This record gives sequence, structure tokens and C-alpha cells, in this order.
Amino acid sequence: MLNQEQALDALRLVVEPGLQRDIVALGFVQELKVSDGRVAFELQTVRPGEAAEKLKREAEDKLKAAGAEAVAIELTGRARGNPVGDGQGSLPGVRNIIPIASGKGGVGKSTVSANLAVALRQTGARVGLLDADIYGPSIPTIMGARQGPQLQGQQIIPPVLHGVAMCSTGFFLNPDQAVMWRGPMLSKMVDELFRRVIWGELDYLIVDLPPGTGDVQITMCQRIALTGAVIVTTPQPVAVQVAEKAVIMFQQLKTPLLGVVENMAYFESAKTGEREYIFGSGGADALAGHWDIPVLGRIPLATNLRESSDAGAPIVVSNPDSPAAKGFADAAAQLIAAVSVRNLNAEKPVEINF
Ligand code: ADP
Repeated sequence: MLNQEQALDALRLVVEPGLQRDIVALGFVQELKVSDGRVAFELQTVRPGEAAEKLKREAEDKLKAAGAEAVAIELTGRARGNPVGDGQGSLPGVRNIIPIASGKGGVGKSTVSANLAVALRQTGARVGLLDADIYGPSIPTIMGARQGPQLQGQQIIPPVLHGVAMCSTGFFLNPDQAVMWRGPMLSKMVDELFRRVIWGELDYLIVDLPPGTGDVQITMCQRIALTGAVIVTTPQPVAVQVAEKAVIMFQQLKTPLLGVVENMAYFESAKTGEREYIFGSGGADALAGHWDIPVLGRIPLATNLRESSDAGAPIVVSNPDSPAAKGFADAAAQLIAAVSVRNLNAEKPVEINF
């Protein structure tokens, strides 16, 4: 009769093609139950649609070949939670809090935050998006928010856009206020937004940080249990150099780094398909190589990406077959894997050597 270890061995033969690792090592096999030759588990989805169904069929085949009599697999968007998040600094019901950071402004951090959030949602995960970029809160525009949140006493009910619960500091700040306010006041505001917004149950809360390494970022790392940060940069050396400062900040504050997204990585001619490296190339690779963090994805410079952001319809929704949208779907898949593996490892007890 097939036992738990044999079932896991069979599932180790199933490799997620985009991630090039097996579904057990990736932590995507959840709630595995094996009894009387019957196997049931939940398989975490990284790519929606046919790709997920194909992986499910492959898992079924491998288990049956190993001797399983019956197999029941349920696809789920549910993510492994940050085990540290159970304690102080966590938000009830929120499994992973992931800040998106950049060294400087204008590299597309907000564009990446919004599209990653919606791409994660498309895998079936429950997602929230907090726009903490006090100096240029652009998330409401990118997500197409027509109205702000509802207030119920002290509580803030966020609007849900493209399936993502979203709240922005822009709803509460006058445009000139952010410039006037000092760091501690801004940090307090961001902290209040974390706690007063009714996020509900979330697999991922994506936080669009202000650019740089200021008070908001530092306070958040100190006060909130973060799963890990994502860095956005363009390939340009000047952008990479400042992105490195953000990397150093997270390292000093002991916030894990989940990876780098290279935005405006190249421009592809619609006519010839030829790629032009307008901002140079190799920036994200250099950063990732030096700090030993993965490159999660590369997003091309694309007119339709800018247009869809301005129109309030993230490109992963408005033009899912475009190269930019595919870049975001790939980056979301890599991010799901990075979170899963990080949390799987964090669950293991820490060895203390005397
Ligand atoms: P940040 O949050 O880093 O300041 P934004 O996300 O607001 O940057 O992007 C700055 C501008 O660049 C916006 O007008 C946005 O639409 C545009 N943009 C961002 N990424 C791309 C891209 N890959 N291709 C084309 N335009 C982009």
C-alpha cells in the first residue's frame, strides 16, 4: 500500500516547467493525506488555466504509476503563510506581507506592484494592495479606482478592483501634505493604514513603498512581520546603484529579499520583433548576482503598458497576451515560488549551536 513518503517521492517527479523545480521542493503540495492507497492534497497554482490543469494531470499520473488507487487533487491559490507572522507585528488573516521597493522614483515600482498584485489574484490567491508611496500615490489611477474606501467608525473598507482589495495613502493626503509632513507622521499614517483597513483573509498583501530608504520603509521593516521584499530596478547602472542601497537597508533590518524585477528591460519592435536595450542590459543580473537573490522577471518597455496604466486597466487584465503581461505572469509565478520556499524553510526549527 502506498505510504506518505512514496506519494511524496512520486510527486517529486513533477516539475513546474517555468520554475524548473519539483512541486514538493517548491512547497506547492499542501494538506497531503494518504490512506488505504488513496491520495488527496491541494496543489498551489502558479499559472492559471491549462498550465495548472496540466500539472494536476501529471501529478495524478505519477501517483497512479506509483500505485495510488485513487487521487483527489484540488487546485488552490492559497499560499503558505509567513510563520513569523503569527506573532507580533502581523495582521490577522494576512499570510504574507510583501513590500515592493526601489532605489529611485520613476523606475515603474507602482506599475509593477499593481500588475503583480492582479497577476497573483489571477492564480486564485486572495490579494490586497496597499499604496504607501506617499510622495506619488499612483495606484488608484493604475487600478482604475473611481471612489475611495468606505469609512465605518475607525475602520476602513477598501474598494476591490480587478479582484484586489486596494487602499492608498492618496485617499487620505492632500497632494502638498506629504511634502510638508515629517517622517514620523508619515510612518504613523502608513502604520495606521495597515491596521485600520479591513483586509479580510489574504494570501498576499503587496505594499508599494515610497522610493528610497526613508522613515516609512525603516519603520515598516521594524514594526511589521514581512515575508520579504521585492526590488524593482531598470537595467541602467545609476538605477542599479541606488537599488543597491535599498538592498542594503533590507539586509540591515533583517528583512529577507525575495528577488528583483527588472522593468523597462528592453524595447521590442512590433514590426521586426528585434529587441533594443534602451536602458542598457545586465543591471538586474549584476544586482542579483552580487547579493545572491533571484531575478523574478523582466518587463519590456511598452507603450500599451503605459497606456493601460493611465486608463486604469492593468495590462495583465486588459491585454493578457502582450509580452509585458506575460512578463508579469512569469514574475508572479517566481514570486509565489520564492514566498513558498521561504516560508517552508522558515517553518523548520532553527538549529542553535553552542
Ligand atoms: P514609480 O512607482 O517607480 O515612480 P511608475 O510605476 O509610476 O514608477 O512609472 C512611471 C511611469 O513610467 C508611468 O507613467 C508608467 O506608466 C511608466 N512605465 C512604467 N513601466 C513601464 C514600462 N515597462 N513601459 C512603459 N512605461 C512604463
